[in-house]
Amino acid sequence: MVFLYATPSLFDRFVLPVALPHLPGANVPPRGVGANEVPLGTPPPAPASTAYRLFESPVEDQEWIAYDPCRPVHYVVRPDNAPSGSEGLVQEAVAEVSAATGLQFVDDGTTTEAPSEERDLYQPGLYGETWVPVLITWSSPAEIPGLAGDVAGLGGSDYAQSPGQPLVFVGGQVQLDAPDAVQTLLIPGGRAYLKALVMHELAHVVGLDHIDDPHELMFEENTGRISFGEGDRAGLALLGTGPCAPGL
Ligand SMILES: [Zn+2]
Repeated sequence: MVFLYATPSLFDRFVLPVALPHLPGANVPPRGVGANEVPLGTPPPAPASTAYRLFESPVEDQEWIAYDPCRPVHYVVRPDNAPSGSEGLVQEAVAEVSAATGLQFVDDGTTTEAPSEERDLYQPGLYGETWVPVLITWSSPAEIPGLAGDVAGLGGSDYAQSPGQPLVFVGGQVQLDAPDAVQTLLIPGGRAYLKALVMHELAHVVGLDHIDDPHELMFEENTGRISFGEGDRAGLALLGTGPCAPGL
């Protein structure tokens, strides 16, 4: 039996303040790229469950952080080392998180970017003049030491703010342990477990922390659950209602 532990990882990094006006060579993109005036989607009605925890905000006047719902959440996949049998799995997991939050995800295809804890949130040479997309990688303990042992994946986001405005998530990452994933795919139902792992890590990306309740997918240890629980869904629906941040 494969034991899947999935550890949250917020890639803590403030980016502030946003430069104004935007100058060539700036380390942040021009403001408001892709921003709409109203949220692009609507979260589903939240189940009446409190079995969830949101990542705490590091600032006192804001309890939790979310992605800007007024612009799409772009994502890219580094396909290197993707296990045979995992085709389409990331996209299926993204669709689950999109449905549960109302956030609109856009698949920007593949990338050559490697995972990193010190990721530049603005890489115009690779992604154009906008915040970097969520980066999903099939990695390994050799590349990301945090994946050593029973850790099957890591997920989290950076955050940014413009002065006086709420913190919002930008540039998340999901780092999957490809050697572990190969083993998972060998067991009966393994693809569903692996998809659930990606859903778990993506839920970290959009702001959901672990909850000490084995009935939820955000339980720290995988108990064989392959779908979001009521508490997970309540938390994800809330995370779809974050503030819009046109100033970023
Ligand atoms: Zn986790």
